[in-house]
Amino acid sequence: MRVYNTLSKRKEEFVTLEPGKVKMYVCGPTVYNLIHIGNARPMIVFDTVRRYLEHKGYEVNYVSNFTDVDDKIIAKANEEGVSSQEISERYIAECQKDMEALNVRPATTHPRATQEIDGMIAMIQTLVDKGYAYDVDGTVYFRTRKFQEYGKLSHKNLDDLRSGNRSLLVTGEDQKEDPLDFVLWKPKKEGEPSWPSPWSDGRPGWHIECSVMSKKYLGEQIDIHAGGEDLIFPHHENEIAQSECCNGKEFAKYWLHNAFLNIDNRKMSKSLGNFFTVREILEKYDAQVLRFFMLSAHYRSPLNFSADLMEAAKNGLDRIRNAVSNLKYLMDCGTAAESKSGSAVQNAVDGKQDLTSLEAASGELDLVAQGMASGMTVEEEGLLASMKGYEEKFDEAMDDDFNTADAIAVIFEMVKFANSNLTSENSRALLQAAYDEIVSLSDILGLIVEEKEELLDADIEALIAERQAARKAKNFARADEIRNLLAKQGITLLDTREGVKWKRA
Ligand code: AMP
Ligand code: ZN
Repeated sequence: MRVYNTLSKRKEEFVTLEPGKVKMYVCGPTVYNLIHIGNARPMIVFDTVRRYLEHKGYEVNYVSNFTDVDDKIIAKANEEGVSSQEISERYIAECQKDMEALNVRPATTHPRATQEIDGMIAMIQTLVDKGYAYDVDGTVYFRTRKFQEYGKLSHKNLDDLRSGNRSLLVTGEDQKEDPLDFVLWKPKKEGEPSWPSPWSDGRPGWHIECSVMSKKYLGEQIDIHAGGEDLIFPHHENEIAQSECCNGKEFAKYWLHNAFLNIDNRKMSKSLGNFFTVREILEKYDAQVLRFFMLSAHYRSPLNFSADLMEAAKNGLDRIRNAVSNLKYLMDCGTAAESKSGSAVQNAVDGKQDLTSLEAASGELDLVAQGMASGMTVEEEGLLASMKGYEEKFDEAMDDDFNTADAIAVIFEMVKFANSNLTSENSRALLQAAYDEIVSLSDILGLIVEEKEELLDADIEALIAERQAARKAKNFARADEIRNLLAKQGITLLDTREGVKWKRA
C-alpha cells in the first residue's frame, strides 16, 4: 500500500510502527457553529481511510479532537450571553448528529481540549525546561529558531516567512524573539474561560492541544496525522515542533492532507461566508449522496461544489442502489420458485397421494436441495471468479493512496457486470455473492447501498402468518429465513401460548 506523505512530498510504502496496528490522529473541528460541508470533507475522507485500513486487517486506534476553547467560541458565547461550555457542548452534539448521518463512525476517542489542560501545562513546562519555550509576562512562546527542522512539513523558506511576518512584531505580539514564535499559553482577558498555570491564569494556544491529546491517547509516535491542507502551516508545523522537541522522537510517520472543498473555485469557509452547512444540504439530499460526492474525487484533488455535481452523485449512487435492489428482487423470485416447489412436495405428502406422484414430488425436492447445496453451475463458478477480480481491482485502487474515485469506478464495473450477466435463472448462491460483493465494497467506503425498507405492521403480520404456515408444512428453512429477515429489520418474534407476538427493537 502506498500513501502520499506531505513530509516527503511523494508516495511512500505504508509500514506501521507496530505490525498490524495503526495509530491515527485527525484534527477535528472548532465547535462554535454547525459544521459546513468543507469541514465534512476531512471527516468523510479519513473515516474512509480508517475503514479501508480495517478492511486490510489493521487494528486502528483513531483519535479526533474537538477544539472547545477558542476565540470564536468565546465570541459566540458573549453574543448569546451564555457560557463557552454551553456553546461547545451544543455544537459537539450537533456535529455528532451530522457525522452519524454521513455514516462517519465515532473515533476510538474524541478528546476535548478543555479536559486536557493538565497535560498541556505539563508539556509546556517540559518545553520551557528544555529551553524551547519562554515566558514573557504570563504568555509562553515556542522558540522556533531552536528547532532546526522547523519548516520541514510545509517546505517553506523560513527567512521569507520571517520577513513576511515582521508586521506581527508591531501588531501586539512584539515581545516575541522571532516573528515565527507562536503562543503555547496566553493570559486570560476579562470574561474568558481560564485555568491556573505556573505562568498566568489563562488558556492554551491551539497547536499545543493536538500535540498533547495525540500523545495521551496514542503515544509519543504515531503512524498517521491528518487534516485539511490549510492545517499544514502553521498548525501541523507547530505540532511537529512541540512534540519532537518535547519527546525527542519523530512525531508522525505519515502526514495526510485533504484538498479543499471549493465553491466557484474558492475555498468554502465560514470567514468568506460562501458555505453550506451539512444540515442545509441534508434538507435537499440524502446524506449518502453527500458522502458519495466527496469520495467521487481523490482526497488530494480540489473539489468544486455544485448542484450539477450533486445531481451526478445522486445518479451514481442510485445506479448502485438499483443494482443491489434488483439482485434482491432476483433472489426473491428464486426463493418464491423454490418454496413453490417445496410446497408441491408438502401438498403431495399432506394429500397422501399415490406413490408415483409422491416420488415425483420428492424428486423435485432433491433437485431443489441439490441446487441449494452445490449452489452453482460450472458457468456460474466462472462468473463468481470474475467477480472476485473486481475486489482485487478495488483494493489496487485504494492501495494507491486511497484512490476512492477509481474504487467507485470499480463498483460501477461490478454493477454493470451484475446487470448484464445475472438473471432470476441464476442460483441464489451466485446472486447472493454478487449482492454481497457490491454491498461490502460500498461499505468499505462507508456508503450504504442496501434498501432499508421500513416494514409496515401489516407486512410483519403477513410474514408471521407465512412463517406459521411454513412451520406447519415443516418447511423450517423458510420459517427460519422469515425469522432472520424480520430480525434484520429489528423485529423480534416471541412464540407464546397465545400465538406469535412481535416487537420492534
Ligand atoms: P476548522 O473547524 O476550521 O478547524 O476545520 C476543521 C477541519 O476542516 C480541518 O481539518 C480543516 O482543514 C477542514 N476544512 C475546513 N474548511 C475546509 C474546506 N473548505 N475544504 C476542506 N477541508 C476544510
Ligand atoms: Zn490539530
